[in-house]
Amino acid sequence: MSRRKKAGIIVGCVIAIIIIAVIATYTPTYTLSVSVSPPGAGFVSPAGGQYKSGEQVSLTANPISGYSFDYWSGRASGTPSSIIITMDSDRSVTANFVPAPTDIGSTEAQQLTGYLEEISRGWDRPSVDGANSILSTESLGPEAWESFFEEYFSDPNHHFTDDLRNYLTYPTFHWFSDDVHANLQQGLFSLLIDIINSQTDAYLESDRAFLTQESPIVQSLHNSHRFLHTMIHYQVSSLENRDNIIGFYKNLIKDNPNIYGNASLDVDKYPFAGAFRAQAHINLAEALQLTDTILYTEIADILELGGIKRDIFQDYGVLLIDNNGLDTHQLEVIKSILESVPSELHNLCSITVNSFLGNDGDEKLRLTRKVGVNIFGNKVGTRVLNMFPNEVPSHLSDGFSRVAIHELNHRVDGFHIKGNETFEKRKEQLLEQAGVAKMNYLRSDIRDGYFQETPQEFFAAISNQYFSNSEHTLSLGIERFNQGRPEPLNQFLFFADVYSRGGSSTLFYTLDTAGNLAKTEVPIVRDGDGHIIELHIGAEHYGFQLDTDGNVVSVILP
Ligand SMILES: [Zn+2]
Repeated sequence: MSRRKKAGIIVGCVIAIIIIAVIATYTPTYTLSVSVSPPGAGFVSPAGGQYKSGEQVSLTANPISGYSFDYWSGRASGTPSSIIITMDSDRSVTANFVPAPTDIGSTEAQQLTGYLEEISRGWDRPSVDGANSILSTESLGPEAWESFFEEYFSDPNHHFTDDLRNYLTYPTFHWFSDDVHANLQQGLFSLLIDIINSQTDAYLESDRAFLTQESPIVQSLHNSHRFLHTMIHYQVSSLENRDNIIGFYKNLIKDNPNIYGNASLDVDKYPFAGAFRAQAHINLAEALQLTDTILYTEIADILELGGIKRDIFQDYGVLLIDNNGLDTHQLEVIKSILESVPSELHNLCSITVNSFLGNDGDEKLRLTRKVGVNIFGNKVGTRVLNMFPNEVPSHLSDGFSRVAIHELNHRVDGFHIKGNETFEKRKEQLLEQAGVAKMNYLRSDIRDGYFQETPQEFFAAISNQYFSNSEHTLSLGIERFNQGRPEPLNQFLFFADVYSRGGSSTLFYTLDTAGNLAKTEVPIVRDGDGHIIELHIGAEHYGFQLDTDGNVVSVILP
């Protein structure tokens, strides 16, 4: 063989190998084409495209308002709105939509009306089952529900009672499918807005004597606001509707400043309006907290917030709903508390003072809130008390401040502790270890068993002492430890750990009788498990020997 021939064979082989290698790694791509019938009735996501052979594509059919998805055709079949297509050839699929029924049908409407009438007087199992069977219909779009509920509530005998609101939250937010939730929510949204607008007018025109807690206007108005609150937190198609809710409340405030604005309300002349206002403001504050948009300045303007109140809203995102009852001193105290408690520990966004809103005593309406608290309106410098038992020196502190601090610490419990598995577990362990004996708690001014019955008070209750005087609280823990009761000291270290935010120091506080709150950084040392084993209070170093759970077994005094 000549050299040239040999070279030719080698080149030929190399080319062949390259071709084989290319064929072996080459994956064909296929085209997915998607169409919609009738055109414009909806859209499919993704809208088709090029895919590698074998790739699985998840397609979802989305109807526009007024249509519902019916079935897939072409190289796909079935009725679920989401399907998966395997791309093993070019594919074309069609999403078929049908006009959504604009009413639920007269038989169904009659039946559902009967069920809801029954439920509006209380939870009735057969009626709940009956209503469920109709409300769970996936093919009924928002228009159908809007016209049904419009019809239902236009009957003067039908009110949006507490019981009806309670029931409707289940099909609208929790039971059945996301499609059902979206349709019911959209259908109810515009209706609730109509109810609030029309019933606000009816309220203003109504004779005061007819405005009782159970009266249709009061019930329908209050429960419509409460239902919108639930929509803010649980709705499926979230952000757009939340913006609509904010937009709605902005207009409601502008159109009805006497009820929903921030001007002082005459609570005797306008019974229950304080509760309507409070619920509207809570809704607005909680919807704002969940949006990315910075609307705070605009809302502050609409509410005509000024001075300290405006600072508190803009700097801490906390709306004060007090019917202008809080005086400057009280507002300063609230601001200094929000300054002193690290904002990453809580998610508070509203503070109501029910007593100033006329929403207390026998005429009280229950407010729905998720991240707000209520405080008392006592003047600063009153309700001065010593929060400590006589085992340690007394320390007097202001009552208004203590209540605000206690309530804020409910949010620390519900946000920072709840959001941290280690803290949550430790809190449960501490409650279990302390059991029913009141002397096993820092707060022993309660009855035996109190914290077992109301565990939600356990953490917030410690704050009354910790913020009055953290050092006294530590002394009380050590005193009890020496009496053979280690739990109060464990509780103290837990509170200090929460306030350390995982860092190398914690915060100690003192509160005087004039509401002055002072904060000190206290360096800490942790063991390998992260438990606090030393506190450096000025020049005094306290040491703790712990077991593996973090329970104190011995104390080293300075
Ligand atoms: Zn409490």
